[in-house]
Amino acid sequence: MIQQIDHLGIAVKDLKESIEYYETALGLHCHGQEEVESQKVKTAFFDAGGVHIELLEPTSEDSPIAKFLEKNGEGIHHIAYRVDDIDGQLKKASDAGVRLIHETPIDGAANKLVAFLHPKSTHGVLTEFCQSK
Ligand code: ZN
Repeated sequence: MIQQIDHLGIAVKDLKESIEYYETALGLHCHGQEEVESQKVKTAFFDAGGVHIELLEPTSEDSPIAKFLEKNGEGIHHIAYRVDDIDGQLKKASDAGVRLIHETPIDGAANKLVAFLHPKSTHGVLTEFCQSK
């Protein structure tokens, strides 16, 4: 079951500059930074009342985030739902005809399992399921 929106993923060109914006202009506190090798990104997390903001800077040119930035520029990249049964949630989506980017969950940031649904079959929103390990 979907429990709540866990975070919004936002693609940025420069993590350091972006962190400064979120801290100085919005007054949010950065509570973690991490490199996620499986997705070739550096991330920074902010807590906005239980929903997190996940900034994503690519660490390599073939990172999915690098491709996104090239095509769209900086901005909202994905929405992530916290789920309690990621395999069941993927099966439900797949049974409903949704194209999965990950058939089985992969390691994400913050010690979570994550899997993405393809935006071509989610009405334009790159959708992530995430579950704490
Ligand atoms: Zn995410």
